[in-house]
Amino acid sequence: MKLLNTIHEDYHMHSINLSDGFHTVDEIVQYAGRIGLKKIVITDHSQAVLDGCNITKKTWMSWATRWKNVYNDVEVSFGIEGDILDEEGDCCFDIWWSSRDFLILAVHNSAYKWDFKNITQAYINALHKYHDTIKYIAHLCFEKISEFVDVEAVVKVANHYHIPMEFNAKNFVLGTTDEKKLLQMLKLADQVYITSDMHTLSDFDFLQVAFDYLKEHGFIS
Ligand SMILES: [Zn+2]
Ligand SMILES: [Zn+2]
Repeated sequence: MKLLNTIHEDYHMHSINLSDGFHTVDEIVQYAGRIGLKKIVITDHSQAVLDGCNITKKTWMSWATRWKNVYNDVEVSFGIEGDILDEEGDCCFDIWWSSRDFLILAVHNSAYKWDFKNITQAYINALHKYHDTIKYIAHLCFEKISEFVDVEAVVKVANHYHIPMEFNAKNFVLGTTDEKKLLQMLKLADQVYITSDMHTLSDFDFLQVAFDYLKEHGFIS
């Protein structure tokens, strides 16, 4: 397993401007600079989750392409935490009628309305359809879904397409990760990102916990 990021990079977080985070993009960026992050991607939820959770905001579209970091030298870009919608592996990768280059593949029960028993095949179908655009697979071991996930089968296809897996530090620290499946995923995956999945600024602290966990288990030195 190769860890792709350092503790100074975080590629999964949510803002109040665009989805269900607690802080504005400007607050996140200023804080990220203060705690030593060098590169971040703000990956708000797809339209499927916003609609499913009745989150109504209309500030996306053009401003995200114009936004520039005037606070510090943190490298900032915008992505989307996309959603598998059905067993065919169709996905929602847009937000307020626009998409981005940095797309994460995820499953949330507010967007996925089918039987979770078939979720492994849904992941595999989505990977076959969208492997060219997916940067990594988010929280595969989230406890509410993981009991239905065949980790080995999903990671095998992800490895085939050179798509990394995510070690989601927030879910791990908050106790919503199936640790047995997480360890299985870490052992099988060719490439892994640690992310905070930050919704409130203190969530950035979770990154260190995940890095320590990988060290304790001998995945990194
Ligand atoms: Zn998520
Ligand atoms: Zn997220």
